[in-house]
Parts: sequence; structure tokens; C-alpha cells
Amino acid sequence: MGLIVQKYGGTSVGSAERIQRVAERLIAAQKSGQDVVAVISAMAGVTDELIKLAHELSPQPSPREMDALLATGEQGASALVAMAVNALGGKAVSLTGAAAGIVTDGVHTKAKISHISPRQIHELLAEDFIVIVAGFQGQSTQGAITTLGRGGSDLTAIALAAALKADDCQIFTDVDGVHTCDPRVVPDASKIDEIAYDELLEMAGAGSKVMQSRAVEFAKKFGVGFEVRSSLKDRPGTQAKATPANMEDVVVRGVSLERNQAKVTICGVPDRPGCAGVIFSAIAGASLNVDMIVQNASSTGTTDLSFTLHKDDFTLAEKTLMPLVAQIGAEGLSATSNVAKLSVVGIGMRSHAGVASRLFACLGEAGVNIQLISTSEIKIAVVIAEEDLECAARATHAAFGLAGPRRPSSAAAG
Ligand code: ASP
Ligand code: MG
Repeated sequence: MGLIVQKYGGTSVGSAERIQRVAERLIAAQKSGQDVVAVISAMAGVTDELIKLAHELSPQPSPREMDALLATGEQGASALVAMAVNALGGKAVSLTGAAAGIVTDGVHTKAKISHISPRQIHELLAEDFIVIVAGFQGQSTQGAITTLGRGGSDLTAIALAAALKADDCQIFTDVDGVHTCDPRVVPDASKIDEIAYDELLEMAGAGSKVMQSRAVEFAKKFGVGFEVRSSLKDRPGTQAKATPANMEDVVVRGVSLERNQAKVTICGVPDRPGCAGVIFSAIAGASLNVDMIVQNASSTGTTDLSFTLHKDDFTLAEKTLMPLVAQIGAEGLSATSNVAKLSVVGIGMRSHAGVASRLFACLGEAGVNIQLISTSEIKIAVVIAEEDLECAARATHAAFGLAGPRRPSSAAAG
């Protein structure tokens, strides 16, 4: 008999009706002969609402009280799920993160799990309970309630699956799985059956976020396989693992898109030690999060330095850097907020040549100008005009053969 951990996100428990469907699923999983542990997020919107309330009462609420407050969202949702299971004739009990044995450090609002002692979970499972654990939270060794950062219920699920040596871990959400591209932009985007942890991490960093990155990193570190699937349909989702079956033949797994980017270029930066340090110390001092950084090779004693960041941080970045331009002896600063990032991601790139040329050629044919390029071992990202993003996405998706199997209707028409 196996043990399964199922995590349900906020939209999956967003109403009484949806909670009832979750309860039905949990009972069905147990009837199929498995021990069932569920991890539950706060109902959709609840965490945001609590944060808003806190800020209405205090400009800077203490992180300790913030955790005490936010943890209640998950506690309420898990109690409701347990009630729903029991009302349907099942047998469930809800536990807070602390009761589930999740011990963390004391860094409030972004605590790290130090260990899990799931004694009570094991005892309850032995008595045939479906165990419902409040996600996103733990308890510090000092006994305070802590939370694991936004989206932290994913981490609770993965960490519990590791600690309980679960046979399966399923992350139920409001999408069918991870897609080759955003289906709202590329209509023939298809669900990916298997994906490597590294690809999922790169795609999240590139704008295709389906799971908390910390949770994926944890899964990678401890080799926890998991499946991302829809709580609204009864269909297989995307399996995440270290080495997907067709690792070598799939060169590009997906195309990620990120809108709302801005690009800042400091032109004519003197080519001498320390300039980049001055620029990025100022950026860090203003708590600005920079994404891509690109510096050109210098042939004339000066160089151009560009970076991207979120559109919302654009004005502050400009304001922070303007005075520095003269100070370091650069020529000027140009900035635009009408850019977007497109990334192709795939571990197959490690062993295949020609990915960059295929991407650049296809963008060229589509008439899309590339403003910046950056790469990692398994990703090539370009910054382009925001207005070109959709056209570029469709061209790239087609160029790498990512379209899914045709639907019966279109196959008949063709
Ligand atoms: N409720 C928390 C959040 O909204 C944690 C989670 O949903 O995973 O970030
Ligand atoms: Mg979530």
C-alpha cells in the first residue's frame, strides 16, 4: 500500500463547491488503497486580503505577527477540507504545520525548514485518517509560528513527501500542467508530459511560473518526483523529475515569456575596474532586482552596459542612476520600458548545437529585432520589443517543433 501527498492550491479550494470536490478526490484516493496526506493552501485571495488588512493597521507590521496572521489562511482552509471529507462519510483530521512536525528556523515570513518529525502524521495514517496539513507554515525551535514565503504550500508538500518517503506527490492547481508556451498566446501550445527540475526552474525564472521555485529546488536536492496537474479535470499532468525519458532528443522543452520588463543602458562607461561595482551597488542600495546584465566588449576604451528589470522599478532605477552617469564619467543613459523577454529552455541544449542560430534566424524571418541576448547552459533568452512578443512566441514555438498533436477537428479539416 502506497502513500500519496496531494497539494491543493488556493483556486482549487476557492469555494465551498471546490472544497467538496477536493474532499471527493481525497476519499477516492484513500479508497484506491493509499495512505493520503493532503496539503492545503489558503482559499484564493485570502493571503492577499490578510496582508492588505495588516497594512491598513500598521505601516510595518512585525514579521512575527505577520506569520501568526497569514498562517490562519491555511489553517482555516484545511479545517474546511477536513469537515468536507467527514461530511461525505470519510475520516479526516486537520493539522497545523507545527502539529505536522514541521520545524523551521526563526526567520519570519521566509523561514527555512530545518527538519520534519511526522510522528503524529504516521499515527493518524495508521488509524486510517486522511491527514490534512495546513500548507505554507511551520514552527520555529522557539515555538513561534513561521511561514515559508509566498507560494510556500508547494514547499510543504514536497518536503512532506520527502520526509514521509511518499510514493507519489501531486500538486493540484488550476492549470493542466506545464505547457510548451502560454496557450493564451500560442494556441497550439501543448502540455509537457515530463520535465526536468532544472528546466522547470529556468522556466519559472523566465516567466512561466507554475510552482514556488524554492519547492522545485528542494525537490531537486532530495530527488522528490512530483506531478503538476489540474484539480478541475481528471487528466494526467506534467511529471517533474531529474531525468525525463526523452532527455536527449528534446532540444527545447518550452518557450517562456515575460512581459512588463524595462531595459536600462548606460552608454560610454569608461573601461576600468570599479565602474560596474559602483553602478550595481547603487542598484542594490535601492533594493532593485535586476534580471539580465549585458556588457559589451570594449574596443574604444568605453563600453555599453545594459540590464533589465521589472517595469515597476523602472523610474526608481533611472532616478538612482542618473547622478552616477557623470560621477563615473559615462556618456549617458537610455532607458525603455516597452520590452519583453522570450526564453527557450531545454536540457537537450547541453548536447545539441545550433539552438542559438535556429532561434535568431527564426526571429529574423519574423522581422523581430533582438535587443539583448543572454544564455545559461540550458536557456537562451532575448529581450525584444513588447509589441513583437506574441509574433515572436508563435514563430519560435513553431521553429522548434513544439506544437502538440493536432486536435481531431483540425486533423479532419487538414
Ligand atoms: N497562501 C500562501 C500564498 O498565497 C501560500 C500558498 O498559497 O502556497 O502565498
Ligand atoms: Mg500557490
